[in-house]
Amino acid sequence: MAEHWETYRQKIIGLGEDSFAKSYYPELQEKIRSLQELNRNFEIVFNSVQDLVFIHEPDGRVVIMNDMAKQTLRLDQRVPQEQNLLDFLRADHHEKATRDWMEALGGTSNKSHWIVRPMDRDEGIQVEATFSEANWSGRRVVVTVLRDIRKQLEYEDELIRAKQKAEENDRLKTAFIANISHEIRTPMNGIMGFAQLLSNPDLGREEITEYIQIIQQSGKRLLGIINDLIDISRIEAGEVELKPTDFRLRGEMEFLLHFFEPMVAGRDVRLNLSLPADMGEAVARTDREKLVGIFTNLLNNAIKFTDVGDITFGFDMKEGGPHFFVRDTGIGIPGDSLKRIFNRFEQVDNRTSRIHEGSGLGLSIVKAYVELLHGTIWVESKLGSGSCFHFSLPSHVIVQNATTPFQRE
Ligand code: ADP
Repeated sequence: MAEHWETYRQKIIGLGEDSFAKSYYPELQEKIRSLQELNRNFEIVFNSVQDLVFIHEPDGRVVIMNDMAKQTLRLDQRVPQEQNLLDFLRADHHEKATRDWMEALGGTSNKSHWIVRPMDRDEGIQVEATFSEANWSGRRVVVTVLRDIRKQLEYEDELIRAKQKAEENDRLKTAFIANISHEIRTPMNGIMGFAQLLSNPDLGREEITEYIQIIQQSGKRLLGIINDLIDISRIEAGEVELKPTDFRLRGEMEFLLHFFEPMVAGRDVRLNLSLPADMGEAVARTDREKLVGIFTNLLNNAIKFTDVGDITFGFDMKEGGPHFFVRDTGIGIPGDSLKRIFNRFEQVDNRTSRIHEGSGLGLSIVKAYVELLHGTIWVESKLGSGSCFHFSLPSHVIVQNATTPFQRE
């Protein structure tokens, strides 16, 4: 009888194996089922949140955390009983974090930025933490939601960099317009003024020749600026095409030497060409115009910024391909400007360079051309001692060596 009563009681109060199903109270069964369902639904919602959610005591002891938190913090699915939210923060963050959520409970703030540390990693994850207070089975708990903001911070950084770049471009363009109008106005005034003077019938032969020379020089300068402007806009529009041909490197270098020699004639500057001793009739296959354009710009600058000494240009063969250079003993470039001089419109802002003409476009055209030829350009310079501009091109640019006769289609 006693045994029978015991079994009967187990069934009624829902104890023992499969006791729920055996319970004799249908309302109780229904209640249990709906509670189970509610719990399942809660877990589904809780675990589908893409942020890290912790429900914890005011001292940080975790009551429950969602799957995203476990996943991000690289915890085993079975979270140890005694887990504290502070365990996932750097030690020097503990005080701040506790203050943050206690302030939130006091109603003064509910947002903060933390760095959380997954179990197996040293590197931290930047998160935005938000807090709220809740009642959990009669206990006062904190609901802390952590949102991974690494991507957002990356976008913000990118945006800031893009904004700075846009502002810098804007500043350079304004400076460029001011500079270019000066550069155009000076030769224009020269042309207009001296053309006007030429109309005087009383001018002597010598004066006429001198005025015509000034007009021609001003015209050349104007043409140079216009050409630079056209080049840079074509480069920017992606309209510059490569037209590779075969040509003798020595011939091209000697042409440049003869072309530029008159520009240093009568000055205390020597122009030298340096070629490898064994180059013979080395043939290059690349865009000749661009290569000459690069040297023309670099040599023009070297001549412009060198008052005394030597300008040496040429090339040598390096393992990776031909290495070209233009070296001068001129005014040099200050270290802090070296990185910027290849930028569009950039001119070194010092007293010496101000007295030299230029649009600040030459080196950006040079850089764009070198890159079009699949090469790299760099500069070494020491203020007051001189500069050396280097550029290297891929090895396949040299198609024949000294022993092979030069051939052209
Ligand atoms: P610009 O037409 O004004 O010369 P570049 O782009 O050719 O423009 O050069 C930019 C600036 O770099 C120059 O204004 C000058 O300050 C500096 N620079 C270029 N080449 C040399 C050089 N060989 N020696 C000293 N400074 C140079």
